[in-house]
Amino acid sequence: MASWPARGNVDYSPPTRPGLQARLSSLDSALSRIVNGGQLEQLKTKAVRSFTVHRPAPSVRRFKRRPRDLLKRASLFESEVSRVMLVDLSSYDLILVNESGGKDSQAMLTHVVGLCDAAGIDRWRIVVVHADLGRVEWRGTRELAELHAKAYGLRFEAVSRSEDLLDQVISRRAALDRAADKLEAEGKPDEAAKKRNAPAWMSMSARYCTSDQKTSQVKKLMTRLVVEHRTRNPGTVFRPVRILNCLGLRKQESPARSKKPEFEVDKSATNGKRHVDRWLPIFGWSTEQVWSKIRQSGLPHHPAYDAGMPRASCVFCIGAGREQLVLAARLHPELAAEYLAVEQRVGHSFKPGLSMARIIELSSAAQVGTQDETA
Ligand code: SF4
Repeated sequence: MASWPARGNVDYSPPTRPGLQARLSSLDSALSRIVNGGQLEQLKTKAVRSFTVHRPAPSVRRFKRRPRDLLKRASLFESEVSRVMLVDLSSYDLILVNESGGKDSQAMLTHVVGLCDAAGIDRWRIVVVHADLGRVEWRGTRELAELHAKAYGLRFEAVSRSEDLLDQVISRRAALDRAADKLEAEGKPDEAAKKRNAPAWMSMSARYCTSDQKTSQVKKLMTRLVVEHRTRNPGTVFRPVRILNCLGLRKQESPARSKKPEFEVDKSATNGKRHVDRWLPIFGWSTEQVWSKIRQSGLPHHPAYDAGMPRASCVFCIGAGREQLVLAARLHPELAAEYLAVEQRVGHSFKPGLSMARIIELSSAAQVGTQDETA
């Protein structure tokens, strides 16, 4: 029996002509496997119907044709095709859309809902998940994400870690100190000193804020959804439940993000009971495209953008620049004070080379400057 190809995804990227032919052949053989799989006529039809072809921005084109016709069409566009991705949306039991309340995930939600509608996918299959970061995130992000989900008639789930981010920084400091004490007792002063000097704060190279506060919590939701899905659909007990996990990351955001794969099997979330693919549906979008999609949707966006912030998730993101952090401290002085208290307690600055104490100082100076100008 021919096997169903890995979650209906075929990707070819080099825009060069010599590479294109090879890519088209590999696309051809993957599509042939789907079409000639033989044993699953109804799946074959479904797969063909719901293929989505992503072409270079700005258009996303969907072909209601056989894959071979689609391939011919792709060949016709040879000169303009730089990247084609096919995602067989209908082959998933559940489509999980991560909505932080920020602009990118908001635009992605609208985009994914549109693609699912076009592919005839029932909305009950789509679940909007918000990782609630509590006091450290912009006020109203959870409510906004819920409002967006409800506007499309989608199920909304909020997940959170029992210990919030600031408490986690304190616990991490304590754990590092315990480890240092142990190493000292074992007569390893150099290693102990390393632990003692290790910063407890998250950083761009130690982003436990994302892995612990967001990713791990979403995985717990996946476990719950799989149990639910299997109870409601006993047919899925004998195979892994297929989940498409959609994230609103864009390559324009940073050089590190631009290297991320647009689609991949999420091995860390996949287990015997579920198969999880991670997809970045707006990976190639520009900021203008994001705002245009939001405008088209008619749904509200977070007011932090109108106040001048370029992002809305954590008020004080470790990835944010000095200006953004100073502005955030002006908008949320009480939260800045809480960060400062943690900074003093753990004995390390919030960001290497930029302490919260300094951010508060700069924000106060800016405030005084503004008052002087208006006096
Ligand atoms: S917004 Fe910034 S600080 Fe908050 S979880 Fe994401 S990367 Fe970490």
